[in-house]
Amino acid sequence: MTIQDLSQRIETLAQWMYESQYLVVFTGAGISTESGLPDFRGPDGLWTRRDKGLPPEPMKVPWDAVEPNAGHLAIAELHKLNKLKFLISQNVDNLHLKSGIRPELLAELHGNIAKLRCKRCEQTVDREEGRTRCRCGGALGKSVVDFGESLPRRDLMLSYEHARKSDLFVVAGSSLVVTPAADMPREALLSGAKLVIINQGETPFDREAGLRFQERVGDVLPRAVRRLKRLMGFFE
Ligand SMILES: [Zn+2]
Repeated sequence: MTIQDLSQRIETLAQWMYESQYLVVFTGAGISTESGLPDFRGPDGLWTRRDKGLPPEPMKVPWDAVEPNAGHLAIAELHKLNKLKFLISQNVDNLHLKSGIRPELLAELHGNIAKLRCKRCEQTVDREEGRTRCRCGGALGKSVVDFGESLPRRDLMLSYEHARKSDLFVVAGSSLVVTPAADMPREALLSGAKLVIINQGETPFDREAGLRFQERVGDVLPRAVRRLKRLMGFFE
């Protein structure tokens, strides 16, 4: 694909965002690789390396020093523009909240390393608070969901609900192979939403996507949002 073709696709994405009444964004590990975190199925991903018999790449930066990158900030900008109706993430890295997304607009399907979850009422609290009990009296434990554990019910329910309401569903940095997270684009499509996929590497939904970007999230979303702002009448 040529550079000109990329500009055209970014232009289309901006136009679709402009027209959208219910934009939902779905993110996976691919959005955070540009912050120095490993993904799963990318060239140096955790599973790719495991399949080759290699250990995970050492972390380039400690967890709490990891900062949101241009992709996260572009989503936060969509939020400020009042365009983002909901954000669903498979990531546990806390970078969406760090970038300024309001917690009510975010479902974290696999939990968050910076949060603890109540085993009774499923409320989450900041790990920093140093509490061991929830206000309801339940015990607090880690919120990150390990392989084979069930996903947090409320986050999952909200994700289905917003996916069904969406008219534009943008996937950023997920290969969409883990269920039930991978059911969300299906729900959106069945409700008549346009599907946009920004991911380096194949996904099972590539043929159903109205727009497909093989580029990095950071090379697509910030440009699309800048273009959207011009369409909305903001001039820098
Ligand atoms: Zn509780």
